Amino acid sequence: MDLYSGLPYWIAKNPLYNYFNPLVSDFNIDVIIIGAGITGALVAHELCSAGIKCAIVDKRSITTGSSTASTALLQYEIDTPLCDMVEMIDEDLAVLAYQSCLQSITDIENVFKGIGFDPDFERVPSVFFASDKKGVKLIEKEYEIRKRYKLPVTFLNKKALTDKYGFQASCALENNESAQIDAYKAATHLIDFHIHRSGLKVFTNTEVTKFREKSVGYELQTINGYKINSMYVIIAAGFEAGKFLPKPVMKLTSTYALVSEPVDEKYIWHKKSLIWETREPYIYIRTDNKNRIIIGGEDEDFKDPVKRDSLLRKKVSILEKKFNKLFPEIPFKTDMAWCGTFSSTYDGLPYIGTWPGADRMVYALGYGGNGITFSMIAAQLIKNKLNGIKDERADVFGFGRKRK
Ligand SMILES: Cc1cc2nc3c(=O)[nH]c(=O)nc-3n(C[C@H](O)[C@H](O)[C@H](O)COP(=O)(O)OP(=O)(O)OC[C@H]3O[C@@H](n4cnc5c(N)ncnc54)[C@H](O)[C@@H]3O)c2cc1C
Repeated sequence: MDLYSGLPYWIAKNPLYNYFNPLVSDFNIDVIIIGAGITGALVAHELCSAGIKCAIVDKRSITTGSSTASTALLQYEIDTPLCDMVEMIDEDLAVLAYQSCLQSITDIENVFKGIGFDPDFERVPSVFFASDKKGVKLIEKEYEIRKRYKLPVTFLNKKALTDKYGFQASCALENNESAQIDAYKAATHLIDFHIHRSGLKVFTNTEVTKFREKSVGYELQTINGYKINSMYVIIAAGFEAGKFLPKPVMKLTSTYALVSEPVDEKYIWHKKSLIWETREPYIYIRTDNKNRIIIGGEDEDFKDPVKRDSLLRKKVSILEKKFNKLFPEIPFKTDMAWCGTFSSTYDGLPYIGTWPGADRMVYALGYGGNGITFSMIAAQLIKNKLNGIKDERADVFGFGRKRK
């Protein structure tokens, strides 16, 4: 699959993690992780830290799939507002999903503190503003339910929003628990840490083409005809996981992003807050540590990469105009732009866990706008499963969750 095109900022900003190690013989391991993106990296971290023997295999080089195209906002707020999610799944599960995402941001922070490396993780506020009248109603309803469940949230009326953040909208929800990260830097360093510290084996440029369930575990076959035998297989293959699924659980779509030239510090709004809106598809905005402004959104309902790429210029122009409407005084010039495949599920939640009847293939599919926070939850759930520890979050994110 053509996961992205254009120039994702992070691959230009960071030195390439220069690692080439295709599998050239048959290989046996307790747990094999398919995918060396942010999900595979976090899963490997949790398993290595728990002393579970694992290895990673990836058809590309390390972290050159969707994780390098990610704008990497870390929010506890899921694409489906809590007030809508409770109409789709049981209320206690929906609340647990929100609470889990909140905790996940701190857990990501702690993973990197634990290995003594900073992947440009920054705590920033998040502002979710009403795009229109319908959005005002949503903001009011969402405020009530989040407050009821003691999730961190403040209501800002028009004046409070403009005074604090310098742009106009009827109202907004604010919280101070969000963050931003460089997902390429994060994943490559985490994998590198465990290659050197834990003896983690990583096979790149090695596509898994077939798999066969055995009496205990799996036999995978690679594109070059080698076999990987393992007790467990973890599917951290991102938007390309479809071939490992008995049936599709996600909708593949297209999304667009751009990064500006650095702007003077004086133009950056209050505490570099993340900004997003109620309209769908929503525009979202963040900054980085060089005072560049990153904008994403303008999602389209199709996945065809040719059609997706042909719209890039038009989408960049729309995103620029929308930003300019919010912040007309900020001199904004696009430096790089890219587009990519994206994925969503009917309720905004990821799929983490096993398919009924196949207990040794575990999926870590962080689909949706919170893909990275979902990856952290997936890594913990998988570690707990392999250690035989019951985790209440399995009911929220598993394939068995029930639609109302
Ligand atoms: C433009 C854009 C903006 C985004 N913004 C955000 C955001 O702000 N916040 C957020 O949380 N999320 C965001 N996301 C989503 C987030 O990037 C993804 O959820 C996350 O990167 C997925 O990580 P992953 O490791 O699961 O997938 P990937 O990074 O794609 O890694 C999967 C790996 O599996 C490998 N693979 C696949 N199939 C096989 C096979 N058969 N054999 C061997 N290897 C295989 C691939 O080569 C790939 O390297 C965004 C995504 C995009 C595209």
